[in-house]
Amino acid sequence: MPLQPIAMTLPQAEPMQPANPNSLFAMAVASVNEACGVIGAPDFVKAILSQPKNELMVNFPVMMDDGRYRIFKGYRIQHNNILGPYKGGIRYHPDVSLDDVKALAVWMTIKCAVMRLPFGGAKGGIKVNPRELSGNELMRMTRRFTAALGDNIGPDFDIPAPDVGTNAQIMDWMMDTYLNTHQSASRQGLMNVVTGKSVCCGGSEGREKATGQGICFVLLELLPEFRLRPEGLRLSLLGFGNVGSHTALALGARGAKLVAVMDQSGAITAQDGLPVGELSDYAAKTGGVKGFSAPGVQVINREEFYKTPVDVFIPAALERMVDSQVAKWLNCRVVAEGGNGPVTPEAATILKNRDIVLLPAILCNAGGVTVSYLEWVQNKVGVHWDVERVDQELQKTIVLAARRVRLAAHQYDVDLSTAAFAVAVEHISRSYKQRGIFP
Ligand code: NAD
Repeated sequence: MPLQPIAMTLPQAEPMQPANPNSLFAMAVASVNEACGVIGAPDFVKAILSQPKNELMVNFPVMMDDGRYRIFKGYRIQHNNILGPYKGGIRYHPDVSLDDVKALAVWMTIKCAVMRLPFGGAKGGIKVNPRELSGNELMRMTRRFTAALGDNIGPDFDIPAPDVGTNAQIMDWMMDTYLNTHQSASRQGLMNVVTGKSVCCGGSEGREKATGQGICFVLLELLPEFRLRPEGLRLSLLGFGNVGSHTALALGARGAKLVAVMDQSGAITAQDGLPVGELSDYAAKTGGVKGFSAPGVQVINREEFYKTPVDVFIPAALERMVDSQVAKWLNCRVVAEGGNGPVTPEAATILKNRDIVLLPAILCNAGGVTVSYLEWVQNKVGVHWDVERVDQELQKTIVLAARRVRLAAHQYDVDLSTAAFAVAVEHISRSYKQRGIFP
């Protein structure tokens, strides 16, 4: 029988205001609210998205190598799960805070919706500098954190992944701890409790490079609109960790040149392009780009880095690093957000007034969560795909999302960032309207 529309009264609700209007969380919610206005989302959807569903905070002791105990604070924020299990990374960084993790969880909800993945949004982390811990301390902290999260994570409930300061090794320890604290008969069906694992532990081919690879696919799809081509494209990168280095490698393979890079250790430039493969190995070994030498490489300062003339600037470090001052310094045509929330709202306005196009993070860096989804599916079904298959699926999914966003920008006559949020909120709203609110 065809589905007949049924007249219903939609619930009314007031959105909750973020406690701190200057927080990263307030910035994330403001983007959602703006998108709700653009698409005319019902008030109750706006209200639901204005706060996370669950906020979990755990304090737990870990034995250090010298025999003393240290208490760590960990977070897991589950923002929304209307589209599927909560999904999002785990961050280890000294600046991790409740408000920031809440913002990152909002962006995960929105990112999964833009990509049409059957996932909701979450984020977590521990306030710690992982570089100050030994390998054994890092392992004990990770295992104890996973045990403290208990059944607040699970393959069909909430699925962590790597983020800043975490990697496949951390995910392997999380999975192993979760499996060992659950019934042995069901263990093998639980390995997709986390994604971004090592390939030998059930990880997907292509996951490590996925975010950078996704940025490359988005640029290949959208740059022609701005009369830019990958061959000979001049790039600069802020941040040269997982996202930054793999973006440079993927775009480098298409003929682009990385002419300047800055990370926590310092900034360097090379007019004819940096040797990305060598630089990537060097930074992985030493922890940064500082001290890298090759023909034509020069050390530059922060201001010189931002003022370097390029076609595309890619911030792939931490949040809010592109402020008003940096937005005035930038000498590029396109800013492609590789990291989450790198551009402040004030800086975004300056970029707009300077006719610099901003490509939003929730589209650009969605390659990571997309391949995480592919890993989750492979674990669920019990198969292992080759990297060509994974790249193909990623390309199809992210290119479709880029086209959806471009279409929405034309349809609503808004910039690409607003369009991306609109595409996501539209999808989520449809689901809420159809399902209604229990009871
Ligand atoms: P990472 O830890 O591998 O790298 C972070 C980089 O930022 C490093 O090069 C570091 O030196 C640099 N950095 C930190 N502080 C800096 C400062 N003050 N000045 C200059 N550089 C600084 O992290 P990552 O996984 O590459 O993540 C980077 C961003 O991308 C984050 O916003 C993260 O949430 C986002 N992201 C990551 C993934 C993923 O799959 N890893 C997916 C989507 C989004």
